Amino acid sequence: MRIDILSLFPQMFDSPFGESIIRRAIDRGLVSILIHNIRDFTHDKHHTVDDYPYGGGSGMVLKPAPLFEAVESIKEEIGDASPVILLTPQGRLFCHQMAQELSTQPNLILICGHYEGVDERVREHLVTDEVSIGEYVLTGGELAAMVVVDAVVRLLPGVLSSEQASQEDSYAQGFLEYPQYTRPQAYKGWEVPPVYFQGIIRKLPHGGVSKLFNAPWSVVLTFWGRLFCPKRREG
Ligand code: SAH
Repeated sequence: MRIDILSLFPQMFDSPFGESIIRRAIDRGLVSILIHNIRDFTHDKHHTVDDYPYGGGSGMVLKPAPLFEAVESIKEEIGDASPVILLTPQGRLFCHQMAQELSTQPNLILICGHYEGVDERVREHLVTDEVSIGEYVLTGGELAAMVVVDAVVRLLPGVLSSEQASQEDSYAQGFLEYPQYTRPQAYKGWEVPPVYFQGIIRKLPHGGVSKLFNAPWSVVLTFWGRLFCPKRREG
């Protein structure tokens, strides 16, 4: 998979993509992540990327031209079919199902807004998807893009080892994962529950394990995941 990210602050991505599982996925060629500086797609002396909003109001709005040019130049390399995702608080709430759908795409283009956001014509005529990572406002789309990329990349074949298989993780099958324990067996007098030593946890399907722990949230979650996770808008 190839992921292109448009940002005004490309260096923000150095650390999250330079460590641990995502770093290994990049090193092993399972994903390539290209960060593009939106300023590189300007033509004036000052590399202007934003301007005052029409109609007044505070803050600056990202101009449409550099974003259109950036996406067009990426598409010249990868073709037209890629989803173009705008990170925005008005987008559909990101969830596991969406991560799974995006992980099947060969390419993704992510646009990070900043300041007051982006010119509406970008939303109307350039992007295919709008994604929010939660009902709050961030200073920019960079952290949101990192969240989306992290959740998508860990689902790519080969990124997690079989011991870490994502199929057994929370949300993958509509359940939350059961509680995990490691050594020591007793810590400050708190014992690992006996059921963990009876050899049945690994044999039960996820739902069975959840029932074992009397976890009604697992049922609620199944409905939540199926009914309320918003669908991607097609092309
Ligand atoms: N004025 C906008 C907020 C702009 S925040 C409003 O009131 O809706 C600046 C940028 O941060 C946005 O353009 C978007 O790219 C990003 N951003 C902020 N909150 C976000 C969220 N919850 N999910 C995804 N992106 C977000």
